[in-house]
Amino acid sequence: MKQILPLFARLIKIFNLPRSVLIISLWPIICSFSLIENSSGSPLRERPLWGFFAHKKINRLAVFTLPAEMFGFYKKNIEYITENAIRADERRYSVKGEAPKHFIDLDNYADSIRKQLAKSTWKDAVDKIGEDSLYAHGIVPWHINSMKYQLTEAFRKRDVKRILSLSADIGHYIADAHVPLHTTKNYNGQLSDQVGIHGFWESRLPETFAENYNFFVGQAAYEEYPQKRAWQTVMNANAALDSVLSFEKELSTQFSEDKKFSFEEVNGLTVRVYSKEFTNKYHQMLKSQVERQMRASVKMIGDFWFTCWVDAGQPDLLPLKKYEPTKEEDEEEKTEKANWLRRIFEVRKESDN
Ligand SMILES: [Zn+2]
Repeated sequence: MKQILPLFARLIKIFNLPRSVLIISLWPIICSFSLIENSSGSPLRERPLWGFFAHKKINRLAVFTLPAEMFGFYKKNIEYITENAIRADERRYSVKGEAPKHFIDLDNYADSIRKQLAKSTWKDAVDKIGEDSLYAHGIVPWHINSMKYQLTEAFRKRDVKRILSLSADIGHYIADAHVPLHTTKNYNGQLSDQVGIHGFWESRLPETFAENYNFFVGQAAYEEYPQKRAWQTVMNANAALDSVLSFEKELSTQFSEDKKFSFEEVNGLTVRVYSKEFTNKYHQMLKSQVERQMRASVKMIGDFWFTCWVDAGQPDLLPLKKYEPTKEEDEEEKTEKANWLRRIFEVRKESDN
């Protein structure tokens, strides 16, 4: 539930509503998010979100991996790249077909199938598995590859608006692909009695410890095999899954419920969180795993932005630095975002009736 609180904060801002009115109106949604954590079903759009904090930080840091020819343009737009790092998640609840782009349930496939899929183009995979089934179990590695082509195209056309929007979005999907719990159908520990572990790993840990992480990852490098890299990424993240789950289980045997959890005030609401002591111990057990995955995300995002630019023929980005969104573009973007959020509101209201 903690993961949707920032969304409420945005709604309050966008609709200029008193907090109390909004919380009362959205109470069914708040409750449904709490219920999700107890549910063993896996409705696609109800999967938890990567922490907003981590997404923003990762996109922002990726700018600093870029070579001089790209750095000026991205630096000028760093606030946009940072703020829009979470836009793909905002779309998840309101745009059909968005949710599967954020994950892949690798445990749904036998080893031999996984290996075949990793080498398959999207079209081949559809022929083999069928589109519905692929979507049901997530498509993040193919989607990263598809975004890579789109961003290259945007660079070729020197379409500033699309370059920025696709850069922010591909950063989001790449970061998601690094999260071990984005590679399993047990995405929130709901199949192993560890409900809440998703937000714990990807929100609470980075929010608590990222300040001390070393994010110096060096310069972006050209990636010759983007699809292979995307697949390696989800495979590596999946290899880390066992520690994510087993360490939490192991540690839980040493803590009583009231020591494992505590209550904190978040955006004016009291929510149950993992206690500081439990969080510290778990983080130590994981031995820099979150830091490693965040660093790898930053590096891969830089590599992909750079690769798209190179593949587009290294267009001169200096003239593009002058770009300022027109008033209409600004308005269009604000309306689009408000519509996503409004749709969440409406969809839930209808379904509750
Ligand atoms: Zn996501």
